[in-house]
Amino acid sequence: MKLRLPFLAVVVLVGAAISVQTASCSSSDDAAPTPLEAGPVVPPTDGGGDGAFVPADHPAFPQLVYNGGPVLKTPTLVAITFANDPHRAELDTFTETIGKTQAYWKAIADDYGVGPAAGRSVHLAGNAPATISDTQIRAALTTNLTGPTPGYGALDSQAVYTFFIPAGTAGAKGPADAGYPDSDMAAGLCSEAYGYHDSMLVNGQPVVYAIVALCPPALYASFGITKAIDALTAVTTHEWFEAVSDPFSHLPGSKAGFYGLDELHSTWSVVRDHSQAGENGDLCHEAADHIDLVLPNITYKVQRIWSNQEAKLGRHYCAPANGATAFNSVPVLPDRIPFTFGGKTLMVEGVTIPVGTSKTVELKLFSSAPTEAWTVEAVDSLSYDAVTGGGYTAVTGGVSLDGGPVIPPRLTFALDKPSGVNGDVIKMTITAVKNDGRYGKATPFIVGSKLGKETRYYIGAVGN
Ligand SMILES: [Zn+2]
Repeated sequence: MKLRLPFLAVVVLVGAAISVQTASCSSSDDAAPTPLEAGPVVPPTDGGGDGAFVPADHPAFPQLVYNGGPVLKTPTLVAITFANDPHRAELDTFTETIGKTQAYWKAIADDYGVGPAAGRSVHLAGNAPATISDTQIRAALTTNLTGPTPGYGALDSQAVYTFFIPAGTAGAKGPADAGYPDSDMAAGLCSEAYGYHDSMLVNGQPVVYAIVALCPPALYASFGITKAIDALTAVTTHEWFEAVSDPFSHLPGSKAGFYGLDELHSTWSVVRDHSQAGENGDLCHEAADHIDLVLPNITYKVQRIWSNQEAKLGRHYCAPANGATAFNSVPVLPDRIPFTFGGKTLMVEGVTIPVGTSKTVELKLFSSAPTEAWTVEAVDSLSYDAVTGGGYTAVTGGVSLDGGPVIPPRLTFALDKPSGVNGDVIKMTITAVKNDGRYGKATPFIVGSKLGKETRYYIGAVGN
């Protein structure tokens, strides 16, 4: 279930395509993620010894947990478009091509045991209606996947039935069974998510589907996306990889696939997605994670997706790395602290600092290749969006959400130097100013590392 916090509005600005978890996803409780043994230090990945560059040791990154449920091993992507969709031809090409790419699809899918994806298209005869709801989508799937000549082809549980909603059609915010009123068309799909995926049973067989809406251009501007087709393809890749890696966890009795970060790092999904779950698309939807993928004659934007393998190697936690140099500044967090979210308390990596006191921890800097020095900044998680360019802005004395009152930081930070390179250690003194109870006795923080146009993050927490 997607839990909403007062500052959810910011997520909409920062994150493309929030995936909506259904209210009935008790499967994530049934299949409680097994905390992975996240060792404190990743050994160098390069044997070195002959003068070769060696990434410096650093604490481990999170891992997305496999919960034993199905993944789509032989997926077929199905583009379902309305007759008046001006992007129909491009979406068809994209859908038929993307799943065969080595540099993008395979680079991500291998991590999840998902094979190459076939693609095909369904052309609806009619124009898009003025409004559309999740209930109508489900009814259309049931109608068109049954009977002697099913309109969408024979029912295929390896297919991801993807409905593209052109501009001008209002849509529900998300699945009705996730607590979104199906009749709520006023704000529309674009007010809270640009797309989502969900699953249902048709004739007793599991079916996964996705909805991708074309929203007003301003919503994509912060991702550097200026073309409508790029907006569609970027969001679609996000939904497709979430769907193929965890297709049916919403269905009663079905186990989750890849869903939820290891407990030690569950702070990450809460801070980045305001959800305890963590889906592979949501974990990599920053602006810098949107990249161009060159297909024959066409360049599309696609989204990087969480990669356990990349995270384990300590290079970049979103794939494909596309040749980019990985770099980050990782805090050494010695304690296991209680972190409360959504009524649950998890033990996460952190550092215990009683309110009113300070403690110094080390930041270990590493990169995958020689770089210029990058600048390092640490902020209270409420300032996250002030760093990433979201709805919060930095103001004198703290942050402000959409021009509202000043929210002073709960944590303050002092670094003994502002920048560094691979192998450097920065001493970071954290002062716990107050605990606002938002996450029980924990207060998350973000360490940002900025090199040129790229920024990398590491998320930690203070236990008060
Ligand atoms: Zn998502």
